[in-house]
Amino acid sequence: MAFSAPRRQPLYASHPHTRLARLPTPVHEAVLPGTGRLLIKRDDVSGVPYGGNKVRKLEFLLGRAMAAGADAVITFGAAGSNHALATAIYAKLLGLRCHSMLVPQVNARSICRNLLRGYAAGARLHPCANRRDTALCVASVFRETYARSGRYPHVIPPGGSSPVGALGFVNAAFELADQVPEEGMPDVIYLPSGTMGTCVGLLLGLRLRGLETRIEAVSVTTAPFSCMEKAKALFQATNRLLHAADPSLPLLAFPHHQFSFRKEFLGAGYGIYTTDGVAAVRQAGAIAGIRLEGTYTGKAFAALLADARRGALDGKRVLFWNTYNGRDFGADIEGLDYRELPIPFHAYFEQDVQPLDQV
Ligand SMILES: *Cc1c(COP(=O)(O)O)cnc(C)c1O
Repeated sequence: MAFSAPRRQPLYASHPHTRLARLPTPVHEAVLPGTGRLLIKRDDVSGVPYGGNKVRKLEFLLGRAMAAGADAVITFGAAGSNHALATAIYAKLLGLRCHSMLVPQVNARSICRNLLRGYAAGARLHPCANRRDTALCVASVFRETYARSGRYPHVIPPGGSSPVGALGFVNAAFELADQVPEEGMPDVIYLPSGTMGTCVGLLLGLRLRGLETRIEAVSVTTAPFSCMEKAKALFQATNRLLHAADPSLPLLAFPHHQFSFRKEFLGAGYGIYTTDGVAAVRQAGAIAGIRLEGTYTGKAFAALLADARRGALDGKRVLFWNTYNGRDFGADIEGLDYRELPIPFHAYFEQDVQPLDQV
């Protein structure tokens, strides 16, 4: 069964915004023993040519960059960052230059694909070994951009998780509430927590609608990117941004009872696959026909499966928010030579990927 609803976007009028996503994304139903009902929110098809959760944030982030008259953006991530890639692709579509400051990570096959696709989108990919390196690189991009155009580049934080980026997921909560009849709203939503704009934006949107749906935020990174302090600070800052633009939206207390921060599925760290996560990727394909991966969505789905197995979701309406891009971009990178990338990136193409990514 699939739900659909007319497009209604209450925040678009009061915050700079540019339309990039194809909304609403579908909600599909799957069967999983141990749950009353399993719904899948298909943000994997949130955009063309690239989907996933970052598109919703970029509608507001790049909308603001355009409104500020910027002609370039800077953003940050690990080498294979989906956020850096999404920013590169959609910045290019809007005629903005994109600079990505990329730090090292444990090797996986998706890193090579993302690097090549970002390069194909015309982004400048800057290898940054550490924080000091990143700061120096940002300073030089600022100087270079200003010298060229007399303007500074617009800075987009890691993962796009500023209050502005989180607006995309406040809207996403409204979208879900418009799409699913109230009696069918999920009791609980499972999703990965990387830099928290997604889970916190959803939580705030649910609260603003007076909905009690609980968020299970499955941490796939460590502090300061993902932690309770970050969740509260981002919730309040996003709430203030909304309230300032529209005082009819109230300032709310952080709803502790409605937010679980789950650390037990992270494993050894960001981008390091876990046995449970890899098994969950396989099971999601089998029961829901969706393609997950080991860094984010596999770990979040592993949490859902573990809770179902121990009886915690009996009779509950459960929703899995699929945050991973599902658009194939193989044709866009075919024939590209990785040796055209800056040398520090070559190792991802020349060395083995982590063992759990080899199966
Ligand atoms: C970036 C990303 C996330 C994490 O979203 P945050 O808003 O940073 O917490 C989850 N899943 C995928 C596939 C991502 O690329």
